[in-house]
Amino acid sequence: MIEIDPGVLQCDVLVAGGGMAGLMAAIGAARQGAKVVVAEKAHALRSGSGATGNDHFMCYIPEKHGPDIEPILKELLASQIGGFHDTPLSRKFLEQSFDRARDWESFGIDMRPTGEWSFCGHAFPGRPRIWLKYAGSNQKLALTRAAKKLGVRTVNYLPIVDVVVEKGRVIGAIGLDVSSVQPRLRLVRTAAVVLAGGSAIRLYPSPAPSLLFNTAWCPACTGNTQAIAWRSGAKLANMEFPNLHAGVKYLERAGKATFIGVITGPDGKPLGPFITKADKWLGDITADVWNSVFGDVMKSGEGPAYMDCTATDPADIEYMMWGLKEEGNTALVNLMGKEGVDLRRHRLEFMQYQPFLIGRGPEIDLHARTRVQGLYAAGDAVGNFRADMAGAATFGHIAGEAAARDLRALSPAERVEDSALFELRRSQFSAFLARAEGAAWKEANFMVQQIMRDYANAEVRSETLLSAGLKYLGDLGRRAMDTVRCANAHELMRMAEVMELMDCAEAIFVSALARRETRGTHRRSDYRFTNPLLADKFLTAWRESGRPTVSLRPRITDIAGHDAYFASHRPPARVVTESQPATA
Ligand SMILES: Cc1cc2nc3c(=O)[nH]c(=O)nc-3n(C[C@H](O)[C@H](O)[C@H](O)COP(=O)(O)OP(=O)(O)OC[C@H]3O[C@@H](n4cnc5c(N)ncnc54)[C@H](O)[C@@H]3O)c2cc1C
Repeated sequence: MIEIDPGVLQCDVLVAGGGMAGLMAAIGAARQGAKVVVAEKAHALRSGSGATGNDHFMCYIPEKHGPDIEPILKELLASQIGGFHDTPLSRKFLEQSFDRARDWESFGIDMRPTGEWSFCGHAFPGRPRIWLKYAGSNQKLALTRAAKKLGVRTVNYLPIVDVVVEKGRVIGAIGLDVSSVQPRLRLVRTAAVVLAGGSAIRLYPSPAPSLLFNTAWCPACTGNTQAIAWRSGAKLANMEFPNLHAGVKYLERAGKATFIGVITGPDGKPLGPFITKADKWLGDITADVWNSVFGDVMKSGEGPAYMDCTATDPADIEYMMWGLKEEGNTALVNLMGKEGVDLRRHRLEFMQYQPFLIGRGPEIDLHARTRVQGLYAAGDAVGNFRADMAGAATFGHIAGEAAARDLRALSPAERVEDSALFELRRSQFSAFLARAEGAAWKEANFMVQQIMRDYANAEVRSETLLSAGLKYLGDLGRRAMDTVRCANAHELMRMAEVMELMDCAEAIFVSALARRETRGTHRRSDYRFTNPLLADKFLTAWRESGRPTVSLRPRITDIAGHDAYFASHRPPARVVTESQPATA
């Protein structure tokens, strides 16, 4: 049997994930006087997609943009992250974004590296620029310290594998202590959990498929928030839409907007209509608006496509190289140095990467609440709002504040150790550890990727493909539970990740089957056109009494609509029952 840590953690608010949203949630809750624990899978000083820095913080600053927020909101919704927003959330985000930028400055992050609030990159010519350029290489250190100063306790190497929900409300959580070779389960007694586990990577094969961890976003983000929300009966939104990013070929790296160059074909001519020569203030937004350009020109034979900085002003090249370091792209910068790649002379070939989940996941209200009492979510994992780093910071803070303020209304935490879910996980994890031989977690992870690539990709989907894929996924889940062997804490953590990925995959299949049209990256060969009747309709999926359920609802555009929807869609306290993992 897997060991159980006798030291049950107790707190008012548990934050699952010590990334950007998680640390800001902890700060928000602690500012309200709550006793907060952050449980982080890795180490909060260097974890998540913001581990080594970021350099663009979407922000509305009235003194720069003027008193009217609407043009900035319009720009946010038209940007690469603007597709799936309930706009009251976007407006609230913009209203609070400058406060969070000032918080960060007070924590020691350089939000004005040029001495003033300066916006550049991801911008259309002639339109407002909304991405504040900052120097984020110390951001994890600064936020971890700020949280600590407020009395937040961070427990590293403690991935949260489950939130225990009974009678529609949170009673605690189950962590897996991986701080030593021998794994241990560690329970948390709490009535409020902020899920902040980031995006879901490793769902689809990368361009270098045997290198599971060669990913643009943090490879340790495997859909924990989405999977826990799914198991708990919270609603997931927009899971059917694959999200695609682009960047340097083969060596997957995010951060394309930091390059100051022009996206060109082999003949050196710009492929997009926005700029003809490198522009520090705009960047080339072609890569945001039409990020399939890199794949499109390969398929048509006109490629490859390049990020071409060879005509960029030398001072801008210097600024760009500094920016790449500040945004955490040190590995790329170091490699270019080592290999003698000089952007003044060499163009970089770019490509479109495999799908992953970002801005797809639990649906939240204006206070970051899911429909499960005591369960909140923020950051990359959220399904009805997205603003990447600044979104994680702002809605993380909102989630923490709300969880702390709601405490009086929440029922007290109960004995997690008596829950059926704890019993189930204990026996599953013990079985993985007890096997003398068996399959490795990696095999299961590769198989998830193959199923997703073949049956739920961003090229073609149909009822027959999706149904077959869903069936194979179920087979894989059962087979994996019966055959995987884990030799130590590390392997068990990886297997828990695969279980999360399988739950995310199930939600994707269920949602993709239900959206009977072609829209964006969701391409159905059996429903070939974009149905105007389904425009601005969000598909939500959730598990009710263990069964996947879906529903379409209008995108929410105003506060009255927000209040009406979120008041009506919360279940009466007893409808959503105990968590039922897909792999149970
Ligand atoms: C190179 C790069 C450059 C980028 N540049 C920008 C930029 O300039 N501007 C911008 O807006 N965005 C940028 N992004 C995106 C930005 O980093 C993310 O949007 C942001 O980090 C999201 O914050 P998050 O807290 O949701 O997720 P993360 O910061 O990824 O944090 C998630 C955390 O959860 C932890 N975790 C996962 N599972 C568990 C579990 N089971 N239990 C406990 N903890 C768990 C992870 O270890 C991680 O620490 C960039 C990303 C990359 C990779």
